[in-house]
Amino acid sequence: MRMMKCYLANDSNGCFVMAKEVSSLEKCVRTCVSCHCLLVWHSGGHGEVPWCEHDQQSVSRGTLMKCAYLDPQVKADERHAELRKAVGWLITPLEFKIAGNVQVFTDALAACFLTASGSEKAATLMPTGTY
Ligand SMILES: [Zn+2]
Repeated sequence: MRMMKCYLANDSNGCFVMAKEVSSLEKCVRTCVSCHCLLVWHSGGHGEVPWCEHDQQSVSRGTLMKCAYLDPQVKADERHAELRKAVGWLITPLEFKIAGNVQVFTDALAACFLTASGSEKAATLMPTGTY
């Protein structure tokens, strides 16, 4: 799962510590300030400041999904997958009224691999079949 780099962590006493204040010689446990996942320290290098990476085996997937350091695109992809799945399981077409900009609506559907047919202010949702 794609997680963003952490520059702030909790130490074993629950105190905040910056990744740049940690040395590779320290053997202290560092955890994520958001999800409490164990963190792996990286020295940076090539002009990059030190940072920490989630040890994704130390917590559940559900915990990582709620972490503030989860790549926002992962959450967006998850929402799109849930919507595609929900539409795919519809026995009857889902009809609804469009309140707002029709182009914004159709662009959002396309991002979720969905299309709609109907008039400008009412539509029927259906999967495109190309995920
Ligand atoms: Zn986290």
